[in-house]
Amino acid sequence: MAETGTLHDAFIDELRDTYDAEKQLTKALPKLAKASSNPKLRQAFESHLEETQGQIERLDQVFESLGEKARGKHCEGIAGIIEEGKSIMEEDFDDTTMDACLIAAGQRSEHYEMAAYGTLVAWAEAMGHTEAAKLLQQTLDEEKAADKKLSGLAEGGINQGAADAARAEEDEEPEAVVAGGTRKSASKSGRR
Ligand code: FE
Ligand code: ZN
Ligand code: FE
Repeated sequence: MAETGTLHDAFIDELRDTYDAEKQLTKALPKLAKASSNPKLRQAFESHLEETQGQIERLDQVFESLGEKARGKHCEGIAGIIEEGKSIMEEDFDDTTMDACLIAAGQRSEHYEMAAYGTLVAWAEAMGHTEAAKLLQQTLDEEKAADKKLSGLAEGGINQGAADAARAEEDEEPEAVVAGGTRKSASKSGRR
């Protein structure tokens, strides 16, 4: 009969999931950068891509510290978040609104990673894997900083710019008088 899995098995499994998630993100981040209009936002995605490559190396060190071979296991969660980001990029938004949406997509992935690394650090500490805990905490701090940077950009003008663009479009919107005298918006988008 197979032995019952332990917290250590779950830990290695989560590490593999996270290793794969980071690898998926190295392919997604350049797309977010490319779709950004705001230069600071593009820079934020580009510098987080560099950090992400370092995070993969850090996970290599974590596996090594545990005497485990570094390998990934498909992360369905981040795949779904990336997929949603892709559909947003296919939408027809003005530049600032798209930037606001890219931030929203980026922050979903940062929060997913923060949850993953938060658990990994706590488990590593509980099992006395101090070297692994230290390395994982470094990445957790980077994910939190990346999330904060995105919040700063959103709240530092991008959201307001997108809201202003929405208001401007609303003001300019031609109104057509249709039969019966009802005023009906001629806007095709319907997005406000
Ligand atoms: Fe990461
Ligand atoms: Zn996952
Ligand atoms: Fe990240």
